Order: sequence, then C-alpha cells, then structure tokens
Amino acid sequence: MKVLVVGNGGREHALAWKIKQSPVVDRLYVARGNAGIWQIAEKVDISPTDIPALVKFAKEEKIDLTVVGPEQPLSEGIVDVFEEENLKIFGHRKSSAILEASKVFAKNFMKKYGIPTAFYETFDNEKDAIDFVKKQQMPIVIKADGLAAGKGVIIANTLDEAIQTIKDMFRGKFGEASKRIVIEEFLDGEEASYIAMVKGEKLVPMATSQDHKRVFDGDKGPNTGGMGAYSPAPIVDEKIEQEILEKIMYPTLKGMKKEGRELCGFLYAGLMIGSKGINVLEFNVRMGDPETQPIMRRLESDLVQHILDILDGNIDKVKPKWSNKYSIGVVMASKGYPGKYEKGFEITGIEEAEKDPDIVVFHSGTDIKDGKLVTNGGRVLTVTAVAETLKKAKEKVYKAVEKIHFKGAHYRKDIGDKGIKRLEN
Ligand code: ATP
Repeated sequence: MKVLVVGNGGREHALAWKIKQSPVVDRLYVARGNAGIWQIAEKVDISPTDIPALVKFAKEEKIDLTVVGPEQPLSEGIVDVFEEENLKIFGHRKSSAILEASKVFAKNFMKKYGIPTAFYETFDNEKDAIDFVKKQQMPIVIKADGLAAGKGVIIANTLDEAIQTIKDMFRGKFGEASKRIVIEEFLDGEEASYIAMVKGEKLVPMATSQDHKRVFDGDKGPNTGGMGAYSPAPIVDEKIEQEILEKIMYPTLKGMKKEGRELCGFLYAGLMIGSKGINVLEFNVRMGDPETQPIMRRLESDLVQHILDILDGNIDKVKPKWSNKYSIGVVMASKGYPGKYEKGFEITGIEEAEKDPDIVVFHSGTDIKDGKLVTNGGRVLTVTAVAETLKKAKEKVYKAVEKIHFKGAHYRKDIGDKGIKRLEN
C-alpha cells in the first residue's frame, strides 16, 4: 500500500522510519519532510498546512493511508477534508484538535470533567490579568491560548516579570495565539509524557517517556519544543500508570465524546507528577517531538497495521510489542535556539555515529544545499541510542553526539539523568 506522512520534523522522521519497516507498505511519501526523511521516503513538495494540495495529491496518487505528525494541519481540519473525500487518515478532526489548539478550551474541559490540572483563570484583557497576578504567589505560569510551538508558556518568577509577560502577550507577542491567556498555579515535580493511540472511548497506550523542555542542563533556561527524551520513564510505574488511565485518559476520551468531539489519533497528556499528585499540564493531539524518536526505537510490532486496525474499528486487537531495552534521544540544536539562530551550516559525522548499530540519527531542521547536508532549523537532529540499561543508552548516545558536528551545535548533557537516578534508588 501507499502511505503518506505529513510533517517536517524529527517526529515525522521517526514515524516514517518505522512505517517504512512495515511489510504492508510498498511506497512511502512525506510532505514535505527534511533531508533525513528524503533518504528513506519520496519527497512531496507540499507544505504540511497546504491542505487542498495534500488532498489533491492523495487522490491523484491513490494514497491508502495518511498519518499526520504535527498539530497545525490537524487544528486546521486536514482530517475533516480527507474524510470528505473518503481518504483514510489517522489523526483528530478539527473539532477534537481544539484540545491542543486552545488552552482555554482544554482548561475549561478539564475543570468540567474533573480531570486534575493546575488552578487557573483565563483572561482576554491586560488589566484584569494584571489585577489577578498582583494577588497571586510567585512563581506563576502564563500561557498563550493558541499554538505557539511550545514557546507560548512563560514561568514568571517575579511580579514584574509576570506583568511584563502579560503586556507582551496582549500586545501581540504570539499574534492571535495570545489574544486570550491562561494564568495558572505553578506546580512542582517531575514531568512525564503519556501517549496513547485512541479512538472514541478506547485506547492503546504507547511506551512511557519523559521529555526535557528547558534549553539548558538541570532544567534551566527558557522552554523549547523539547531538548531530549527517553523511554520508558521510570517515574511512571504501574501504579501511576493506572492512575493516569483512570483519572486522566479515560475521562478525557469520555468527556470529549460527550462534547461531540470524539477523538481518533494520538493523544498526549503532558503531566506533572509532584507534591500535588498527578496533574495535566497540557494535552497534545499528536505524538511528542522528541518523545516519538526514542519511542519508535522501542516499538517492535507494525505501526501501520496498528493504525489500520484502529481505523477499521478493531482497536481491541491492537497489542503493540515493546522492546525491553531503554532508549534515549538527544536533540542537537542551533546556537541561539529557542531564540534567534542562523541556518545553513554544514553537518558532518552522522555516518560515523551510525556505524554503531544501536544508533539512529533522526533529522529535524536539515536541508541539502549544493550537495551538502546543512542546518535548517532550531532543532537540527535527534540522536537516539538503545541499550540494555538507561545508563548504557546514555553513554552510547553521547558518544554518538560527540561524533557529529555543525557550527554552534548545542545540546543538553543530562538527558536520562533523572531516570538513571530513580532506577538507582
Ligand atoms: P508543547 O511544546 O508541548 O506544545 P506547550 O507550549 O503546549 O508545550 P505546556 O506543556 O502547557 O505548553 O507548557 C510547557 C512547559 O512549561 C511544560 O512542559 C512545563 O515544563 C512548564 N509548565 C507548564 N505549566 C506549568 C505549571 N502549571 N507548573 C509548572 N510548570 C509548568
């Protein structure tokens, strides 16, 4: 069969890499992809948000299945349009994608259905928001309502910082996305990502994982799209997983169905596990980037067959098989990311790094210029390793990272440490 993956990042490279291994796939296309993806799939030169062009392509090429990576096309209704044309597609409809696309919706939804989340208020004007923060304890968390590629969340440590952030947001820092904002209580603890494939009121859990949002070691510096991840996440033991399923995942599926916004696709709960129990920081209606990269390294069964079974109404049949090994993904980013950065620097050493069969390098922002592989984004690569223990996976992944070079390359050196510490105790 012919499969089309929509998206350009490391997550899509990992999905395409896994989909390519499926015995039922004859041809794999990716729109638009990156230099790594183009080595394993046919490049479709259409932007992931150009929905009319994607539908036209899928019809003309007789694509049997489309898998959507990023949130933008989902929230812009790609699934609705494909379904109208009777094209098979895995992802949520626009009415369900709002769970990620609007933080105001998500927070109000969680409140309505008793899903644990930080105390919050929503605002549509500067004055009320500032009056509110003046009465709150610091730190406090200020979030743009709409999609902002993981950068629309500011943790303000002082009142001055909080007021400045509110002003910036209402004065257009994130455009339309910050016309409304959520201000919420700061929660301490450790983060984990819980991802499942879902349809209606049923779900199939993916392997657990933990992301690292902040740009510097020790969770310092501003938030990014994610600087590294590992799987499984030892913090999510069986008891915690049970609680996540009972108090968060199933109530979310039921609630969304009740709202007439039935879910179908990947559902991601970003969790904070700490002194106030397990709370949802956010929902995403897609897999995480970089969590997908280490998760796909551990999936032994056929992702395409799982997706087809779910779409055909046979979710009960879906039993993914996970490797017992640990995997880690370390993001190599451009100097300056998540702020301003330059592009176009040559990347070398990937082949050398991949000589170790336990290493796979997934591309994010990469391109080919004058026959050379060059940087083309903030996050450039995710280097992944698998090994018997998390500690060994960490050693392996950093050995590989050190072999790869581009000007200004920046990466965290502590990916995996939280899990290793937990396993040693
Ligand atoms: P993503 O990149 O996953 O789309 P996002 O922009 O949708 O992120 P959130 O996940 O809501 O935003 O927040 C980003 C990060 O900010 C979280 O991963 C967490 O590190 C931190 N954060 C968010 N809310 C809180 C909170 N209430 N308390 C403490 N930290 C928080």
